[in-house]
Amino acid sequence: MTSARVEESLDGNICRCTGYRPILDAFKSQSVDADEQLKCRLVDIEEVYKGHCKKKKGSGCGGCCKDMKKGVALTSEQTISTEMGQWYRPTSLIRVYSILKNLRTAEKFRIAVGNTGQGVFKNDGPYSVYISTVGIKELYSTRVGSTSAPVVLGANVSLTRAIEVFRDAALESPGAFAHLDVIANHWQFVANVSVRNIGSWAGNLMMKHSHRGFQSDIYITLLAAGAELTLGHAADASNSYINLEQFLVADMSRSIILSVSLPPALPNTKFRTFKVTPRAVNAHAYVNACFRMEVDIENDYKVTSKPIILFGGINPSFIHAANTEEFLIGRKLNDNATIVEAAKILGSEVKPDNHPQDASPKYRAQLAQALLFKAVIGFLDKVVGVRVRSAGPIIERPLSSGKQSFDMKKEIWPVGEPIPKLESATQISGEATYLDDVPYLPNELHAALVLTTQANAKIKFVDATEALVFVEERCLYAGQPVGLVVAEDRNAAIRAAKLVKVEYEDIQRPILTIKEAIKSGRVKVGQNVESFKAGTSSQGDVEEAMKTVPHKVRGELSQGTQYHFHMEALAARVIPTEEGYDVFSTSQWITETQSATAQVLNVPANSINVSVRRLGGAYGSKISRQNLVSTAAAVAARKIQRPVRLVVDLNTNMTCAGWREPYYSKYEVGFDDSGKLLALKVELYSDVGHVPNEPSVGILVNVLQNVYYIPNLDVTPHIVTTDTAANTWCRSPGHVNAVATIENVIEHVASYLRKDKLEIRMLNMVPANVPRLYCPAVERNVVKEDIIPLLKVKAAYHERMIEVEQYNQDNRWKKRGLSILPARYTYIYLPEWAYRVQVTIYQHDGTVAISHGGVEMGQGINTKVAQVAAYVLGVPLNQVKIKATETMIGANSYVTGAFLGSDLCTHGVKVACTALHQRLEEVKTRMKADTRKEPTWQELVKKCHSDHVDLSEQYWTAAKEHPQSYEVWSACCLEIEIDILTGMYMIRRADIIQDCGRSMNPFIDVGQVEGAFLMGIGLFTTELVKYDPATGQKLSNGTWEYKPPTALDMPADLRVTLLPNTMQPKGVLGSKATGEPPFCLSYSVVTALRHAITAFRTENGDDSWFEMDVPLTVDKVHQLCGINPDHHFKLE
Ligand SMILES: Cc1cc2nc3c(=O)[nH]c(=O)nc-3n(C[C@H](O)[C@H](O)[C@H](O)COP(=O)(O)OP(=O)(O)OC[C@H]3O[C@@H](n4cnc5c(N)ncnc54)[C@H](O)[C@@H]3O)c2cc1C
Repeated sequence: MTSARVEESLDGNICRCTGYRPILDAFKSQSVDADEQLKCRLVDIEEVYKGHCKKKKGSGCGGCCKDMKKGVALTSEQTISTEMGQWYRPTSLIRVYSILKNLRTAEKFRIAVGNTGQGVFKNDGPYSVYISTVGIKELYSTRVGSTSAPVVLGANVSLTRAIEVFRDAALESPGAFAHLDVIANHWQFVANVSVRNIGSWAGNLMMKHSHRGFQSDIYITLLAAGAELTLGHAADASNSYINLEQFLVADMSRSIILSVSLPPALPNTKFRTFKVTPRAVNAHAYVNACFRMEVDIENDYKVTSKPIILFGGINPSFIHAANTEEFLIGRKLNDNATIVEAAKILGSEVKPDNHPQDASPKYRAQLAQALLFKAVIGFLDKVVGVRVRSAGPIIERPLSSGKQSFDMKKEIWPVGEPIPKLESATQISGEATYLDDVPYLPNELHAALVLTTQANAKIKFVDATEALVFVEERCLYAGQPVGLVVAEDRNAAIRAAKLVKVEYEDIQRPILTIKEAIKSGRVKVGQNVESFKAGTSSQGDVEEAMKTVPHKVRGELSQGTQYHFHMEALAARVIPTEEGYDVFSTSQWITETQSATAQVLNVPANSINVSVRRLGGAYGSKISRQNLVSTAAAVAARKIQRPVRLVVDLNTNMTCAGWREPYYSKYEVGFDDSGKLLALKVELYSDVGHVPNEPSVGILVNVLQNVYYIPNLDVTPHIVTTDTAANTWCRSPGHVNAVATIENVIEHVASYLRKDKLEIRMLNMVPANVPRLYCPAVERNVVKEDIIPLLKVKAAYHERMIEVEQYNQDNRWKKRGLSILPARYTYIYLPEWAYRVQVTIYQHDGTVAISHGGVEMGQGINTKVAQVAAYVLGVPLNQVKIKATETMIGANSYVTGAFLGSDLCTHGVKVACTALHQRLEEVKTRMKADTRKEPTWQELVKKCHSDHVDLSEQYWTAAKEHPQSYEVWSACCLEIEIDILTGMYMIRRADIIQDCGRSMNPFIDVGQVEGAFLMGIGLFTTELVKYDPATGQKLSNGTWEYKPPTALDMPADLRVTLLPNTMQPKGVLGSKATGEPPFCLSYSVVTALRHAITAFRTENGDDSWFEMDVPLTVDKVHQLCGINPDHHFKLE
C-alpha cells in the first residue's frame, strides 16, 4: 500500500486527541513508499504476530497463526427469527422472489447488502422481513465494457469495486469511457472507505428512491452517464429495463434492482461532476452536480446536442436544469455571453428549499451557477488564459506530512524523554478498560434517558408510569432529561425511553442565540474573577482617550459553540454496597461527582466511593455535565437496590448536555496612524445556556490582552441565557474567544490603515516589565523576542508572502492567504486547584505504585507522573504503576482540567518521592557504613521495611509552594488556499512554535499541541450547530450533521517546534502546560482566510473591512467572496 492510499483510507475516522498526524505516520510507516525515518519507527503488526507464534521449527503451529481472513463460507440458505423480524439469507434470486411473494400486502421488507443505509436514515421501517442478498453470486457480477458494449455492475457491487471497474474501463477504452474515470473520482468522495467497501451502489439508489431529498452522488452521476437499470419482479420473476428517471417513480414494493449498465459515450463528450461539502471528506454534499455536453471543439465549443445538467441538494423534485439545458443547445461555450446568459437562466430555475439544517438557499443557488461556470471553464481549459483557467480545477490536496522538532537533553531522563504514553499499547490493542467495557454484574440493570423535544414550554403530561420523572414544571431546553427508564437490557431501556410521550403546553418560541437573548433582556453583567467585581474592568481612561485618538473603528464578532466530541460517551455505573454506593463514572472531577451523588441521594459523602480508571477523552465535557448521568443512575440504583449502568448514545450525549459557550463581542478601538492601539472598549457576551454553571467570561480580562499592550482598556463581561442545554467548559474555554476577539481587532486596525497585519501586531507587543490589567508584568515578551523571529525563518514567512501575493495575481479563482498569529496563555494556580497524591513502595520487590487525584483522559498525566517518580526515586520507569483515581486516596482533589492536573500531580509526586528518597537515603547511608557496599534498590527497600521506615508518602498539593502564575507563549504561521467558486479551502501548511518550558515528554507535548490546534481549526471552520427555530431541538446531533475535521482537513504540511532552550524556573522540573494554549493559535485559520478572501474582494474593487463570524464554513467563505455572475463570469 502506498502512503497516499493510507491517507485515503483514513477518510472516515474521527480523532479528537491527536490531530491525526501520529496516526497517519504510524500507518504510513508500513507503506511501500514510506519515508526512511518513518519506516524504522514501527514494526509491522503482522510481523509482531508472527514473532509471537509459539511454533517451534518442524512442529505444527497449534492454532495461534490460524488464518483469520478465512471467514465461514455460507453456501446454504439461512433463516433467523429475531425481535426485529424474520431474517433470510437466500442464495438464489428465485428464492428472494418467493420470500417477497409470500409477504402480506402491508408488510415491508428490507434488503441488507452493506446495511449502511441505516446510518443515514435511522428511522426507516419498521420492517417485518430482512433479506440479506450477500449469498447471491450473480448480484456481484461486473463487466468492464468496450467501445460497443456497456459497463455492467451487479446490484451488490460495492462502491469501491465499482470505482475499480470504472477506472479499468476508462483505461481500456478511453474514447468510450473516459467519463467513468470522472465518476470514479467523484465516488471516491462518497461516504468513507469503510462504507464504500461494503456499501452497494444499488442500496444507495434505493435510498434515493425512498427519500427524494437525499442528495445521492450515485444517483446523479449514474443519471448523467445515461445508465439503465435492470429490475427483477417477484410476481413473475420477470426482468424490466428502465432509466434512472423512471426508476424514481417505479413501484419497488415487490421488486429488486439486479444490475446497472452504463453505455459508452460519444468521443466529443465533455463530462464534469462536482461535490461541494462542508469538510474535505466523509460529508454529504451541500450541492452536487453533473455536466455532460457534446461539443464541437473546432467550432468554438458549440454544444451539438441537448446537454445534461443535473443538481442534487436543491430540492426534492429538482434534478435537471431543464431551461439551461434547452438554452445551451447550439450555443458556443467560448462566447462570454453564452455563459453569462446560461448562469442567469440557471439562477432563475434553481429554487432551493429552506430547511434549518441546510446551507442557505441563496448559497445553494449561487453555488449552482458557480459550478456551471467551473464546468465550462474546465471544458474550455487552455482556450482561456491561465488566470481564468484557475476556475476549472478543484483544490488538489498533496500527500500530507508532519515534522516535529524538540530538544533532547538527557540530563534528567526519563523526565524529558520522548516516550510513548504508558497506556498506549493497551489502548491500541483494545485492552485498556473503559467504563462500559466492564462485564455486567449478574443483577445489573440498564438505564436510558427520556429527553424532551421542545424548549421553553410547560410539561402538560408525561405518559410513562414506570419512568422516574425529573422535570415536573417547565422544560428549559429541547433534549432536557425528563425521566429515566430502567430495564434488564440496554436495548429494551432505549426502546422504552423512546415510547415515553411528553405533552407540552404554553409553548414559547425558544431563544437560541446571543443576539435574540440580548433583545429579550436575558442578559446580565458578569463578574470578573480577578477583581471579584461585577461590571467593567478598566485600565487608564478609555472615554477620555477616545476623545483624542486619530482613528476609531467599531466592530463585532460572533463565535459559535463546539461539541467536545470525546470518544467515550457520558456513562456511569452505580452499585449499592453495604456501606453506600460505589460509583464508576466518566468524571473529570471525582470530588464533585461524590458530592453531587451524596446530595441527590441525601446520604453522607463517606457512603459514596467514586472511581475512574481512565476517560476516553473529555475536553471539559465531563467536569460537571457528567453528573447528569451519574446522579440519574444513582437515583435508579437506590430505588431498585440493584446495580444500574447508564451509558448514553452519541445523539443523547450531544443533545442532553451543554457544549462550549458561544460568544459575541462588540468593540470600539482607537489608534494612531502607525496602528498603535490607544484605547479599546470591549463588551464580551457568553451564552451559558439555560442556566450559568461555569461561565468563562469572568476570566478573560487578562487573556483578552494577549501579547499586546493597550494603555486604555475597558472590558465588560456579560452572561446571557438561552433556551439551550447549560453550556460548560471546553478546551481553552473563553480563552480562545478572547484571543479571537483581540486578533480580530488587530486585523480591523490593519485593514483600516491598509497596513501589514504582522507589522501592527509587532508594534503593539507588550514590552517587558510593563504591568497590564490583571496581567502580571512579563520579564520578557517571548513571542516578540524569540518565537516570531524564529518562526519567520522556519516558515520562510517573507518569501512565502511574496509567493502568495504573486499566486493571487496569477489566479483569478483561487486565492491564498498567509498569516502569523501570536498567543499567550497565563496559567494561574487558584487556591482551589489542589490534588492528593500517594506514592507507595512495596517491600516485596521494590516496585512503586502511585495514586493521584488527577484523571487520565488521554492527556498523558499518568506517564508524566511515572516519569517524575522514576527520576526522583532513581528506579526504572517500568517499576512504576499508576492506579485508578478514587475518592479515598484522591479525596477532595480538584477537577482535572486546563492541564493544571498534570502540572500539580507531577509536582505532588515529586515532593512525595523526594521525601521518600530522603528517608531511603538515610537508611542507605547506614547500610553502606555497615557493609561497605552499595545496596541494591531491593535490598534497601527490604531494609527500610524491616526497620519500620514508612514506605508510603502522601502529599496535598496546596498552592503554597507554587508560583502564582506563569506565561505560555506560542505563535503559528498558517497558509490556506480557497476555491472562490465553491468556498472550499485547504490548509496548505502550518508552522507552530510552542513554548512548553523544558518538556517533560516531547511526544506527549507535541501530541497536545497538534490535537489542540486541530480541535481549534474545527471550532473556527467546520463545526457548526443548527437548531430547529420552532422547537429548539439541536439538529446537529450526530456525525451526519456535525462535522469535526478529518485527517484530510488537517494542514497538508504541519510542522511543530517546541521552543528550544527554554526552562521554566517556576514550573515542575522546568516544564509548562501544553494542553490548552495551542488551541488559541487555531484562529490563524480565520486570519489567513481573511487574507485570501480580501484578495478576491480587493481585485473586484472592494477592499473595505467585513465582519467574519465563526465558524467560517464553506458556504460563508463563498458568500463573503460575493460573486456576481454578470460581472465576474468572464473568459478573459
Ligand atoms: C457515513 C455515511 C456517509 C455517506 N455519505 C454519502 C455521500 O456522501 N453521498 C452519497 O451519495 N451517499 C452517502 N452515503 C450513503 C451510502 O452510499 C449508502 O449507505 C450505501 O451505498 C448503501 O449501500 P448498502 O449496500 O449498505 O445498502 P443497504 O443499507 O444494505 O440498503 C439500503 C436500501 O437499499 C435497499 N436495497 C439494497 N439493495 C437492493 C436491491 N438490490 N434492490 C432493491 N433494494 C435494495 C434496501 O432494502 C435498503 O432499503 C453515506 C452513508 C454513510 C453511512
